[in-house]
Amino acid sequence: MRETEKLAINFRAKVIEMSHTAKTAHLASSLSCIDIIAVLYGQILNINSNNLLSADRDRFILSKGHAAAALYVALVHKKILNESDLDTYGQVGSLLEEHPSPKLPGVEAATGSLGHGLPFGCGIALAGRIRGLDYRTFILMSDGECNEGSVWEAAMFAAGKRLGSLCALVDFNKWQATGRSREVLALDPLIDKFSSFGWKVHEIDGHDHEQITNAVSGVTVDNEKPTMVIAHTVKGKGVSFMEDDNNWHYRVPTSEEVLAAKVELGGV
Ligand SMILES: [Mg+2]
Repeated sequence: MRETEKLAINFRAKVIEMSHTAKTAHLASSLSCIDIIAVLYGQILNINSNNLLSADRDRFILSKGHAAAALYVALVHKKILNESDLDTYGQVGSLLEEHPSPKLPGVEAATGSLGHGLPFGCGIALAGRIRGLDYRTFILMSDGECNEGSVWEAAMFAAGKRLGSLCALVDFNKWQATGRSREVLALDPLIDKFSSFGWKVHEIDGHDHEQITNAVSGVTVDNEKPTMVIAHTVKGKGVSFMEDDNNWHYRVPTSEEVLAAKVELGGV
């Protein structure tokens, strides 16, 4: 098993516990993107507790801000947050809010209102070029988020400005809030759409760590095109009774369900 796969199991167990304790929704949305976050924070991103204010650090923006718990466990892994900080998640007065705030160390952007991560990331990537820095900017979006017009403006901008240091990933879990994303508004053919906008597009299994690694590891300032990764995922991935059951968009697991989920995940 790869190190990042072990990390993802650990992350899953933590976000399930956090959702139960804080009584917060969006657990299934965190589980669908957690393999991507585990690969990025476990292997790819040049981000750690010592370089948070360094101009040349890589940038990661969780545009699907409702999956904040998945970001917080990654920040604990990087020792940017303490394990005990997770106990405050969703509590009044805590900086670990249900959607990320840049008041929290390691969070680059306030997100949750969808459609803003990609345009914000474009600005960061362009600023890097102007300043002669070679950091990379990664943005994790949802599939439902691709309904937003701002995503397509940014898609034109990124390709038009040849922002090769930019990489966006779509957590294509086939759901958005209470509906099938393909039925709420036509997404397909998503690969062709981004290709025609001038992006280099990878279509991958968003739970396969080798595929995720291969898709993102070629991102550099020297690229001619921005990179788009369409990652096919399963909402609630890793827990059989949550997988592709959209009740888990808002449901909070009971103590028994937390236990059952952890047994299924297995310990590492
Ligand atoms: Mg979705």
